[in-house]
Amino acid sequence: MPRTQKISITVGRAVWNLKPLFSGVNDTRIERSRKLVEKKSYAFINTWKDRSDYLEDPAILRQALDQYEAWRRKYGTDGDEGYYFWLRSHQDQNDPKLKALFNKIDEFSKKLENDSQFFYLRIARIQPELQKRILEHEGLAKYRHFLARIFAESRYHLSEPEEKVLNLKSATSSSNWTRMTAGFLSKEERTVVTEEGRRKAMPFSEIVGLMNSRKKLVRDSAAKAFNDILVKNAEVAEAEINSVFANKKIDDELRNTPRPDTLRHLADDIESEVVDALIESVSRRFTIAARYYALKARLLKVKKLAYHERNVEYGEISGQYPYQKSVDLVYRVLGKLDPEFANIFAGFVRNGQIDAYPKKGKDNGAFCVHRLMVQPTYILLNHTGKLHDVLTIAHELGHGINNELIRKKQHALYFDTPTSTAEVASTFMEDFVLDEIVHSADDELRLAIMMQKLNDDVSSIFRQVACYRFEQELHKDFRAKGYLSKEEIGKLFQKHMAAYMGNAVEQSEGSENWWVYWNHIRYFFYVYSYASGLLISKSLQHSVKQDPAFIIKVKEFLAAGLSDSPKNIFGRLGIDISDKQFWDRGLDEVEILLDETERLAKRLGKIR
Ligand SMILES: [Zn+2]
Repeated sequence: MPRTQKISITVGRAVWNLKPLFSGVNDTRIERSRKLVEKKSYAFINTWKDRSDYLEDPAILRQALDQYEAWRRKYGTDGDEGYYFWLRSHQDQNDPKLKALFNKIDEFSKKLENDSQFFYLRIARIQPELQKRILEHEGLAKYRHFLARIFAESRYHLSEPEEKVLNLKSATSSSNWTRMTAGFLSKEERTVVTEEGRRKAMPFSEIVGLMNSRKKLVRDSAAKAFNDILVKNAEVAEAEINSVFANKKIDDELRNTPRPDTLRHLADDIESEVVDALIESVSRRFTIAARYYALKARLLKVKKLAYHERNVEYGEISGQYPYQKSVDLVYRVLGKLDPEFANIFAGFVRNGQIDAYPKKGKDNGAFCVHRLMVQPTYILLNHTGKLHDVLTIAHELGHGINNELIRKKQHALYFDTPTSTAEVASTFMEDFVLDEIVHSADDELRLAIMMQKLNDDVSSIFRQVACYRFEQELHKDFRAKGYLSKEEIGKLFQKHMAAYMGNAVEQSEGSENWWVYWNHIRYFFYVYSYASGLLISKSLQHSVKQDPAFIIKVKEFLAAGLSDSPKNIFGRLGIDISDKQFWDRGLDEVEILLDETERLAKRLGKIR
């Protein structure tokens, strides 16, 4: 008979143990720590600031980088003090003393950053001929990708004075405009129907939330107010966004970038061909999203969903998940995937690296944070016992496990994840934990969870890709025509929204103005990363489900950190992510879930 093992780790008080940094705000080591950071930083700065030999001789560059890495590994520009007060001020946001102490070390750190900037700015200016020799130099293999990224970005750098002018003028030519539109919107207020059925004046930010109300009267009233606010501000948004696009066009022309999204890809360490393969694969399967919305409309017993109704929840997600029970559940799932995952989690719990419960003044979100390589990872949660909270543990833990795997294999200059794959580990763990919950839930609950899961997947994958394509066409049209009216922008917007939503969602009157409040189109092309992270994760999940031993490759990928681009890392594992098939495997996972959900809804007699 198989032995049933009790799989549990005791969660204890579940507050951060910050002792590895300091014992408290009055710890005398704080002062000493800052002095040491200053000493070590200037030791590095003063050694190299007047030298140019490291820019000519690869062997000397290796010495310089070794020293740079050692400094960044143990001290950085704010040492333990910066990390400690950052963490403390997230535990207690209302304590002005903590804020003041954090600001002090932050200022100190900025000065060191400025004083040390010369180092990589000068490396970026190395001539292309020598760059090539440096990248081929055996002794520099350890830092090859670090250097390659600096060189790749430097291809689009202008001269120092030109960069300075662009930088100084960036606020007046772009970000002030964007802030203005957002500022106007946030000041708006309208009288709407509240959840309690009263009529009340509400600010813009709360009206946005009410559009997802389960009560039709409430969400329709909110949508009407929301649309009214957007119409009122569309004129000014038109002027604003045309300026922002013109500024972007000028910058791109000066820098001679081949495409409007080139610099985004470079910054995220992802090749344009990989993003293109992703966008194309997802676009070809927009029918998955359309089928999902059609299913939702049938479940909600309406012919079509209004544009603002597409996120309204179906069913009730109940269930209580106290912290101890949640931790055990996540621990069990991790253990099944890989024992090392479970060990890392147990270590976090044992060493007080997780701050679990809500508290007055504490940051009300969730995050996983790491700073220097020699410092512990910390996770902040606000566990209240909902199903969503269990997934949050899994998500943040995914980040934490990712950090620990990188820490073991890489040096300080590679101790992080590129933006394009930052959410792979987190969504990977989240999805496996959700699978486990779904399997033990009763049918009604299972249907509600699966619908919510699909809603999240559709929003992260299909909606973001549709948005990316909207952005691409906006820049193309703007560059061709020189100016876009709000009507033209609205038409483009609806075209791209309809493309992924299909026929079951109305492009309702008023929705043509929703671009007015979309902030991300003002920051250019980063939305693909929601889709890339989640789909890479799903593609890997698919492979692990086929063959549990594949987890070794997943771990190798996660442990690679910034040591190479995701394409090259996967390439070494025998996976080609510029191949559309890779992305299709991820999309298959979403489609399988959709098929299952449809079958379940039919079996329960919810749809015919
Ligand atoms: Zn995350």
